[in-house]
Amino acid sequence: MRRLKILMLAAEAAPLIKVGGLADVAGALPVALRKMGLDVRVMLPDNGLRVPAAYKARRLAGGVLAWDGRAERVTLRCLNVSGGLCYLVGGRPIARDGKVYGANMAGDLRKFVFFALAALRAAESLQFQPDVVHVHDAHPGAALYFLGTAGRVQRFWKFTAGVLTIHNLAYQFNDGAAALEAGGLAQCVDARIPVHARAGLLALGIAAADVVNTVSPSYAREIRRVEQGAGLQMLVRARGARVCGILNGLDGAVWNPATDAVLAAKFDVRRLARRRVNRDALRAELQLPAAAGPLFALVARLDWQKGLDLVLAVAPLLRVLGAQLVVLGSGSPEIAKQLRQLARAHPRAVAVRVGFDEALARRIYAGADVVLVPSRYEPCGLTQLIGMRYGAIPLVRATGGLADTVVDVNVDAVRGTGFVFSKYSAAALAAAVRRACKLFAERQAWQALQVRAMQADFSWKLPVQAYADLYARAVRIRRNGAAR
Ligand code: ADP
Repeated sequence: MRRLKILMLAAEAAPLIKVGGLADVAGALPVALRKMGLDVRVMLPDNGLRVPAAYKARRLAGGVLAWDGRAERVTLRCLNVSGGLCYLVGGRPIARDGKVYGANMAGDLRKFVFFALAALRAAESLQFQPDVVHVHDAHPGAALYFLGTAGRVQRFWKFTAGVLTIHNLAYQFNDGAAALEAGGLAQCVDARIPVHARAGLLALGIAAADVVNTVSPSYAREIRRVEQGAGLQMLVRARGARVCGILNGLDGAVWNPATDAVLAAKFDVRRLARRRVNRDALRAELQLPAAAGPLFALVARLDWQKGLDLVLAVAPLLRVLGAQLVVLGSGSPEIAKQLRQLARAHPRAVAVRVGFDEALARRIYAGADVVLVPSRYEPCGLTQLIGMRYGAIPLVRATGGLADTVVDVNVDAVRGTGFVFSKYSAAALAAAVRRACKLFAERQAWQALQVRAMQADFSWKLPVQAYADLYARAVRIRRNGAAR
């Protein structure tokens, strides 16, 4: 069979550019797909980031794009990343300020619409004619809109299928009319899209893609309903069986406590006792005293999505239970302020670090006893998966991918890998925290739980096959010219 060519577009991809879980997936999925024999090229916006010499960056011709009625040059840097080709696509509308997402929505809309169209132009310049353009989230959504409209009658793009992966339906990038017009795209009149989102990058992507997936089966169901549909539930429903869920994997080479260079002590299931060294080192680093109870941790973007209001409400209970809490996050200044106040009020029980710190995050996963993920909603969630791999037991709310990945040990003592609560309330979280503290005191049961969690298989093995099948399906649909 011919080798399938995939052009993957994303705003971030590890290890180059990372803000959240999107980067983990856009970094790991191409690696896993290449192992299956697919030719995957990744394109990211070039915000001027400095590229380490190891990636062997070289400049290529990116071509010219019609933008604001003028010819705009597309710049292209080609890198070797994780055994494959990755391109940084730039041009004047993409500020070289090192920022992945700017503070200003109008600027971001222009930047991302330009990126999406410039990436397609760059592919033409490279003579890389993909079978599939795979778009991650709203940001490059204009590429799918182009494929579904003008691209249908262009020889180069006629048979290229469009696939959209929704990592978070709440970030829609609506009000892109001016940016879409700058890129020469016609106004959308698709009646399936609610009027307020007709110039929305995510909505246009959902409507135009040949197939759409979200990052867990539960989230794929949830976004059909009003609570999690974020105003697009009718559009999602209109796409019917073209929308499915594929659980994210975790790159076991990137996240491996046996080889992780930043840990005080490397460990695995056979050397679990060494984990304690990491916890002691973490407490010392965070200036927390020794404690009898478990060390809870939360690593997240500081956004109300992540259930931080519940954590703030439950923190005093942790102290009563002899437990401690560490939070690492960046994002909302308001949430950061409240967390810092909490740490000041309980310096022996709560440590807060504001900022993005990959190494500290790894030391937290390796040293904490419990990873908290009490999210309002969670499309997939990676911190519970990383926690499991590092022997930090997940305590999660039963929503989206959290419900699909964690089995409550009090419900199923044999298969259980963590603690799960349902209702979004401080009382429900507090009850789960109490259960965790109780089991933590039973050394043997806790260790057995850690071993099960560490051995749970969340590798890319199954998901990558599902993506390969999804691509094949999208190609069939595009070739057959089926209606969207
Ligand atoms: P989301 O994609 O909503 O941000 P996920 O749980 O899917 O949440 O992924 C979060 C990823 O970002 C994980 O790899 C986590 O370790 C990382 N992360 C989040 N905040 C920070 C931070 N402040 N410092 C370092 N890593 C972080």
